[in-house]
Amino acid sequence: MKILKFGGTSVGSAERMREVANLIHNDEPKIVVLSAMSGTTNALVQIAEKLYLNLNEEANAQIDALHDTYKQVVAQLYTSENKQKQANELLNHHFEYLRAFTQDLFTVHEERAVLAQGELLSTALFQFFLEEQSINSVLLPALNFMKIDENEEPDVTYIEKNLAAELEKYTGTNLFITQGYICHNAFGDIDNLKRGGSDYSASLIGAAANASEIQIWTDIDGMHNNDPRIVKNTYPIAQLSFDEAAELAYFGAKILHPSSVLPAKQKNVPVRLLNTMQPEAKGTLISAESQGGSIKAVAAKDGITAIKIKSGRMLLAYGFLRSVFEVFERYKTPIDMITTSEVAVSLTIDNPKNLEAIVSELKTFGQVEVDHNQTIICVVGDFMAERTGASLKIFDALKDIPLRMISYGGSENNMSMLINASDKVTALTKLNDGIFERNTAHA
Ligand code: ADP
Ligand code: ASP
Ligand code: MG
Repeated sequence: MKILKFGGTSVGSAERMREVANLIHNDEPKIVVLSAMSGTTNALVQIAEKLYLNLNEEANAQIDALHDTYKQVVAQLYTSENKQKQANELLNHHFEYLRAFTQDLFTVHEERAVLAQGELLSTALFQFFLEEQSINSVLLPALNFMKIDENEEPDVTYIEKNLAAELEKYTGTNLFITQGYICHNAFGDIDNLKRGGSDYSASLIGAAANASEIQIWTDIDGMHNNDPRIVKNTYPIAQLSFDEAAELAYFGAKILHPSSVLPAKQKNVPVRLLNTMQPEAKGTLISAESQGGSIKAVAAKDGITAIKIKSGRMLLAYGFLRSVFEVFERYKTPIDMITTSEVAVSLTIDNPKNLEAIVSELKTFGQVEVDHNQTIICVVGDFMAERTGASLKIFDALKDIPLRMISYGGSENNMSMLINASDKVTALTKLNDGIFERNTAHA
């Protein structure tokens, strides 16, 4: 069994959906995970914002505009009148459901139900298309097996059991379609795996089904060595280890959801990043193997807050760090980077939701300083093999940029620097020029 996930751009129009149908039309058993059509989740986020503010007229206008876009897709996708009718009825059903929210109290629960509509629509429309093409497939509702627990972590046991039960209902079927991103939560409400979460769905499904491979089909030919939205002359990386890919995803390489590598790694299922617009391109293979020997890539994570706790009592005081970490644990706030000296500890978080409460508790340990608008620059590669040269090259490239924190040695494949967000573009550009060994294959 293979898992193939197609992102928003890959299913972003009638034409693209046809291409996806071509790509998946063979006898190999597979589960196809679809995102919402590109632009839809953003539109739903905006609609929800209007609904929160009770701006019902504006919300309705945006719902109508989105409905019109989908009507055009339906007109272009299906050839038979029967399927056009069926698909338009489906649209009416979903868009009436959205319009009904203007009548009700709007809370986070309703918002999540609104956000789920994109994936429900794309998968249903795609299933209709396969039916019209007489391609045998089954639409599996992700809400029947995808679940997060009270800590918003995937409930892996539940997912395994319920996915297996769903698949068992259809022995003899080789092609399953399901929604990325959406799930139920511990309270039985509709929820989601956060923006970009369809990659995470694919990886969780791949792990649960013990898949032979997880393919992430997107609009670029694999993981590039640097952020192609910011830096020119980036190139795809042929192979990455799970750990290297996980670091890049977590530290800002948007091609993968931050948590999406772990489930695949735990079950040792290789992940392949492929380009729907260029299906013959090799892409990136992520597996347990490490090629070693070089710096592979750079990524940047924005929206970071740095917190420094200065305390005279830290010197020689065992238990100090534990007390600090307990504060973050109480507020369920993960720490990304940490550096220490004899008198102070600096750390970073990317979720400032409970910052005020955290800072006020930390003040009981000493003086606390907070810096907002920070960016983590993460360099990924094999630092064991390159131990003597890599850091020199990195610091030389960044010599004109103030470094707020440096983290090295935490793992063998990551070196991170904290900088002001305003220096990000310069840092990524300088690193691109300074640290990669270009060869003709990359030119
Ligand atoms: P999808 O909708 O298919 O999930 P995304 O937009 O989430 O696609 O991810 C693909 C995009 O990620 C690319 O178009 C690219 O602009 C961006 N990206 C950021 N960093 C990287 C990187 N290091 N390598 C490849 N793509 C990257
Ligand atoms: N549709 C969701 C989003 O736009 C999930 C995804 O595309 O992965 O964030
Ligand atoms: Mg994505």
